[in-house]
Amino acid sequence: MSRIFCIANQKGGVGKTTTTVNLAAGLARLGRRVLVVDLDPQGNATMGSGIDKRTLDPSIYDVLLESATIDEAKRPSPKGGYDVVGANRELAGAEVELVGLERRDRRLRSALAAVEGAYDFVLIDCPPSLSLLTLNGLACAHGVVVPMQCEYFALEGLSDLVNTIKQVHANINPQLEVIGILRVMFDARITLQAQVSEQLKAHFGDRVFDTVIPRNVRLAEAPSYGMPGLVFDPASKGAVAFLDFAREMAARADARSVPA
Ligand code: ADP
Ligand code: MG
Repeated sequence: MSRIFCIANQKGGVGKTTTTVNLAAGLARLGRRVLVVDLDPQGNATMGSGIDKRTLDPSIYDVLLESATIDEAKRPSPKGGYDVVGANRELAGAEVELVGLERRDRRLRSALAAVEGAYDFVLIDCPPSLSLLTLNGLACAHGVVVPMQCEYFALEGLSDLVNTIKQVHANINPQLEVIGILRVMFDARITLQAQVSEQLKAHFGDRVFDTVIPRNVRLAEAPSYGMPGLVFDPASKGAVAFLDFAREMAARADARSVPA
């Protein structure tokens, strides 16, 4: 059975895409079969996986409008070890086009049902909004991973995300839950970050992942080479942390999944 996770936070620049591609590469390194679904019209997860977003045909846009299947739209990441259904600017139009259509928030769920069993993990990189695109992701996910920087305003906006997740849980997808908060771009030398990190743990308990992702320039350099940092420089601190995080996610997922 596939475990489906959304990487979501409606703030931009918080590390969603970096988390998605590096977690995908880490899980692939552990021998898991992984599909990344890029739900952001910016297409950063697509490019960061080494796939040119300008040459996608079909893309996630076609999947959501049901003119292509996941199987037709998926492409292997050349270096990542996982498959990708890519996105580009065309996807911004889907938002508008979907509004008038039936099952508009369940398109991705239907499409993924067709590849059930082909992947151990499906990771959905969400756009920085609580839009119809994000709803499509939340409607089919088992859990949400929330990357967060330990800054003063980190918790602001989290309640909007949590409320949206509660609504989706109540109305569309009863299996949805927040799996965890991932502390990213962390610098323990900054007292404020250490304090906010402690507050997060006090408030969310075991919903804060044990693994912490440090700020590491190699993670930021990797996308321009079309690779996750974990592949680009496996010995870097950021890569090592993401491999640890992949182990933590795999262990959590294994503990939850019902044997077939
Ligand atoms: P989002 O998808 O939430 O918009 P990104 O993953 O694109 O965020 O990250 C925003 C920026 O921060 C990117 O330039 C990325 O390379 C950089 N970045 C992300 N995580 C780290 C990290 N741990 N260390 C250093 N830079 C990072
Ligand atoms: Mg992104």
